[in-house]
Amino acid sequence: MTPQHILVTGGGRGIGAAVVRLLVQQGHRVCLNYRSDQRAASALVTELSEAGGDVFAVQADVAQEADVLRLYEAVDARWARLDGLVNNAGILRAQSKLVDMDAARITEVLATNVTGTLLCAREAVLRLSTSRGGHGGGIVNISSAAARLGSANEYIDYAASKGAVDTLTIGLAAEVASEGIRVNAVRPGVIYTDIHASGGEPGRVERVKSAVPMQRGGTAEEVANAVAWLLSDAASYTTGSFIDVSGGR
Ligand code: NAP
Repeated sequence: MTPQHILVTGGGRGIGAAVVRLLVQQGHRVCLNYRSDQRAASALVTELSEAGGDVFAVQADVAQEADVLRLYEAVDARWARLDGLVNNAGILRAQSKLVDMDAARITEVLATNVTGTLLCAREAVLRLSTSRGGHGGGIVNISSAAARLGSANEYIDYAASKGAVDTLTIGLAAEVASEGIRVNAVRPGVIYTDIHASGGEPGRVERVKSAVPMQRGGTAEEVANAVAWLLSDAASYTTGSFIDVSGGR
């Protein structure tokens, strides 16, 4: 297998960290982006480097265009090549109904989940596109089952942002298919990570898991397996597609 050079946004913790771990274990070279948890990112880089992995971390807020440009400059400086992007960085805010949401919160969620995803995808396309001197490659966007379910009474702003991720996945896949780039998305369901604490309910998975046909929450590793498959040559005819890793819901 030829090692690929893959950027994973939000790769220091949760699903992103599981993706980084799996890709490095598969022999790929990984740039792990994080926003503020430098300790988690450094610990993961140390763990994987000591095991022989080729991985480095770059701090950047994907919602800030200047940060995204700086992130890709770091990738260019290290590798002068890119084969894939995992658009994983994402946030949600405290559970509430729409009537209690202000513009600042909605804007913050959309800036990271939608603008950040678009900006990182744009910079990836500029490097991957065969019409711009690239070798082609893959983009995997991390959406959510929330895009289908709507997250009523919890965070419809977040669900709407993931609906946008689904839509941009379809559009970008068609836009760059002839340039050697495949664009797909994974829609996790309820997964055991710290994101639920961001919503104010660390134990949310335990509360909602009975609504999942498989009667359990998922693991970050189960999501990572789908991401790695979509990036691999095994998915060579798959673009504009979605994998629901959500226990049947
Ligand atoms: P998490 O444990 O809260 O981790 C989020 C990661 O994203 C962190 O590494 C964080 O960086 C990074 N991040 C957040 N905002 C960022 C920004 N503006 N710029 C760069 N990095 C940023 O969340 P998770 O559960 O792993 O979620 C990962 C993705 O899966 C998200 O897109 C989320 O919406 C999606 N998802 C999760 C679930 C679930 O149940 N867990 C379900 C469906 C979809 P720091 O560590 O530096 O803060």
